[in-house]
Order: sequence, then structure tokens, then C-alpha cells
Amino acid sequence: MANTPLYTLAEGCPVTDPTATQHFGGQGVKGLVLLQDTQLIETLAHFARERIPERVVHASAAGAFGELEVTHDVSDITSAAFLNGVGKKSKVLLRISTVGPEKGSADTVRDVRGWGMKVYTEEGNQDFVFNDIPVFFVRDPIKFPSLNRSHKRHPRTHLSDPTMFWDFHNNNQEGIHAIMQLFSDRGTPASLRHINAYSGHTYKFTKDDGTSKYVKFHIKTNQGVQSLTKEQAAKIAGENPDYHVEDLFTAIERGDFPSWTIYVQVMELSDAEAYRWNIFDMTKVWPHSDYPLRPVAKLTLNENPSNYFRDIEQAAFSPSNMVPGIAPSADPMLQARMFAYPDAARYRLGVNYQQLPPNSAKSPVYSPYQRDGFMTFNSNYGGDPNYVRSTQRLVAFRDKPNTNAQKLHNNWVGEVCDFSSEVIDDDFIQAKAFWEVLGSQSGQQDNLVGNVAAHLKGALPEVQKEAFKMFSQVDQDLGKKIKEATIFAMVES
Ligand code: NDP
Repeated sequence: MANTPLYTLAEGCPVTDPTATQHFGGQGVKGLVLLQDTQLIETLAHFARERIPERVVHASAAGAFGELEVTHDVSDITSAAFLNGVGKKSKVLLRISTVGPEKGSADTVRDVRGWGMKVYTEEGNQDFVFNDIPVFFVRDPIKFPSLNRSHKRHPRTHLSDPTMFWDFHNNNQEGIHAIMQLFSDRGTPASLRHINAYSGHTYKFTKDDGTSKYVKFHIKTNQGVQSLTKEQAAKIAGENPDYHVEDLFTAIERGDFPSWTIYVQVMELSDAEAYRWNIFDMTKVWPHSDYPLRPVAKLTLNENPSNYFRDIEQAAFSPSNMVPGIAPSADPMLQARMFAYPDAARYRLGVNYQQLPPNSAKSPVYSPYQRDGFMTFNSNYGGDPNYVRSTQRLVAFRDKPNTNAQKLHNNWVGEVCDFSSEVIDDDFIQAKAFWEVLGSQSGQQDNLVGNVAAHLKGALPEVQKEAFKMFSQVDQDLGKKIKEATIFAMVES
């Protein structure tokens, strides 16, 4: 048949039978295989190397392609080219993951969902590496590895360990706001089509005229937020561990394309100094009443990957990938992530990971001072100079200012000191506001109490006691209810 591929080895040499090894022994008794059987050796050797290092967090995921369409004029706040021009569309890759569990684990476990989104713009790749809750558990990046280990497996038992989990959070209570969100029913989403995503961090929108604003991103599902109860989540985890991956894939296959509306909250730089909350503290939101959501764009997922490993497993996202018009704030977590994510990709995928299909920019790339290294498969800039300021080939530069390095509100003065993540009463105020939000919806407070109790029941008594105290600081009634429910859950099991 005309389109049937001819089977060859990886270097193109044709082989007649892909199912047979070369044996010694002719037509009679067969035994021994031959070292000259390149097909056998290549097949086995490649199989042993099929896996690449699993992501240390966010290992388990679904992903798809889509498009981002600008729906509202935001030219007054950013000169990001891909956001300028209502109706303008950019291609997008989105990867949604759980955080703690390994690849292949059940989709419906209680966890934060990570939102890795790459927008292929005319000025390079813009990555948004968000979460489905608006706040985070720590505000000092040095705690990040500890936080994640406490949510993973115990070093001796190799089991997930409620004592370890609550011991970490009891002693790092700046995370109480995120804990409240995680143990609400939103910690077990009904599907990936029914979650929101939030930047958490404060970013900057910048303009070529030198002005900038602080922004927080909110990506809200147009399908409506839908969650599972802990009973539903546990049942589905047993029956169909790949429930979310399957749901997203099949929805897109049948043409039922999920979509989201992208908003920003916008703050003047001058407001930041006097604002009630430290805008560089990732454990805090900006209340909607202070900073309403301003619509920007629509995101639609409309294409499944043609190969999961190529497009999703090899995708690497980093908050450091920012196009002109979007810039980092001084949030220490953001600053640290801007280093850590590319560093993780260099380890996991190799130093030339930016050349892999999902990561390579769709706009022209000319980066001749970054070349060679394992797996170089672009032109490697041929004979172009590999040193700066060469007269042998002139390089042009963007003719507009580097908006990522704008000076305004970045003239830092002060002493070098340790970043204090000391927990103060203020850290409980937004957690309490969240508890009240749940109180306005039937059953939501009770569900949070039950969700915590079902997990906390497995911790040591002294750790449980500290957790009861922590929740009592949010609200006395909440602490009391969690204590009662935990004792009840222990008796029941
Ligand atoms: P609002 O009443 O304006 O916002 C409350 C928000 O809570 C809603 O907009 C919704 O976020 C989220 N929410 C509503 N129901 C639930 C639920 N059952 N489970 C989980 N989240 C829910 O008040 P504020 O802006 O003053 O915020 C009050 C508290 O709400 C905050 O302390 C924070 O804990 C939480 N919150 C605030 C957000 C913000 O950016 N201001 C974002 C998300 C939560 P959404 O519309 O994004 O779905």
C-alpha cells in the first residue's frame, strides 16, 4: 500500500522481520542470540532508557492544545503584543497536574492542581505556571522542598503520612489559608474542565512608555466550578484512577471544547506600599471588593496532543518565560521559581530542552550565545560568532525598552536580612474570611470539617492537638468541630 511505512531501524536501515531475533542453530534446535543482531540490541537498550526522570512535583498530568483570544482592550495597562488587539489569537499548550503523587497515581486525590500554560506569542513564549487555588502554603522559597516532602512519602515507611503532613503545617502556619482551600471540596475537582486557576503571585503589566501596574491573574472556568465530595473522590480513585485525564481527552475528542475567561486584578504601584496586605506574600489574596476582576481574554482547549510523551511529558514551563509587557514582582517565591523551574528542566530533559517541540518558540529565535550541549538538533547557528560584540555578524536588538527590567518601584534600599516568615494574627484573617464564604453555601463548612478529620485522624495525637489549635485560631467553632469530627472518625475506623 502506498502510505504504509517501510519498517527500518532508527538509523533507517530496513529490517525484514521486526519480531525475530537472529539465532544460532539453523533449522534445527535454536539457541543463543548474536551480538550482530543490531535490531535486538537497539530494541532492548532503548526500552531500558524509555523513561526520563519524573518531575519531582507535578508528575501526573493531562494536557492539551488550544487558543487564547483577546476579548477586551488592555492596551492601557500592558504592551504585551499577544494581548493587544481584540480578537487576536495565540496558540496555547496547557498541562494540568496534581502536585504530590507520582505519575500514574489517582487523579481524584485531594491536592492542589498545577496549571502549566505556554502561550506561543510573536515575541516568544509566555508561560503561566499557576495553581487552582489562589494562595500558597509558604511565602519563603527555602521551605518549598520541605513542604513538598511533607506531602509525599515518609522516608522509612514509604507511605504518605498524616503526622508528617500536619507536623509541617502546624509549625508553618502561614499556610493556613491554603490549607483551608485544599480541604474545601475544591481540593477534589469533579474534572479538570471545572477548575479555576490563579497566578497567586503578583506580577507586573508593563508598557513601552515605561509605566507599569501590579496584577494578579484569575482564570475562571466557563463550565462552572464543580467538585467531588471525599466519598465520591475515593470511589472514583478506585474505579478509574485516570478519571480526569480521560474526561479531558474525551471531551476534546468529541468537540466539547472547554473554555475559561482570563481576568486580572490591577493595582497602581503607589497603592502597594500602603495596602492592607503585603502584595509579595503568596499566602494572601487581594479581596475582590478592593480590586475587581477585569476581563482580558478567552482560553479554549480544542486539540489533544498527537503524542503524550512528545507534547506533554517533554513540556517544560517556567515563570521566568515572560514576554515584553509582563514582568516579575519582588515576590520571593516568584523570584526563586524563576531560577528553579528552568534548572529542573535542565536536569529532567537536558540542557537543550528549549529545542524540544512543545518548548520551542513559534516566533524567530536567535540566541547564539547559548549553543552546543547534549542533543543539539537545531542549526546551532552555523558559523555565527559565539561571542558578544563581534563585528563579523551584527545582531539587532529590540528597539523598545526592556520592560522586564523597569526601574519604577524597583529601587530597593535596605539591609540584607533573613526573610521573616514569622506567623502573625493577620495570617488567619483571610482564612477566616474563606471560612465565612463557605458558611454562605449549604454544607460547605461541614464538608471542610469532614475532609480535614478524614486526613487528620491518621496523625499522632500530639500532632492532632496542635492542628486543632491552629484551626481554632481561624475560628473557635471550626477548631472545636474539627476536634469532634477527628475523634469521631478515629472511633469509626
Ligand atoms: P468574595 O466574596 O468576593 O470572593 C470569595 C471567593 O471565594 C469567590 O469569588 C470564589 O472564588 C471563592 N469561593 C466561593 N465559593 C467557594 C467554595 N465553595 N470553595 C472555594 N472557594 C469558593 O470575597 P473576597 O475577595 O473578599 O475573598 C474572601 C475569601 O475568599 C478570601 O479570603 C479567599 O479565601 C477566598 N477567595 C478570594 C479570592 C480573591 O482573589 N479575592 C479568590 C478565591 C477565593 P472564584 O470566584 O475565584 O471562584
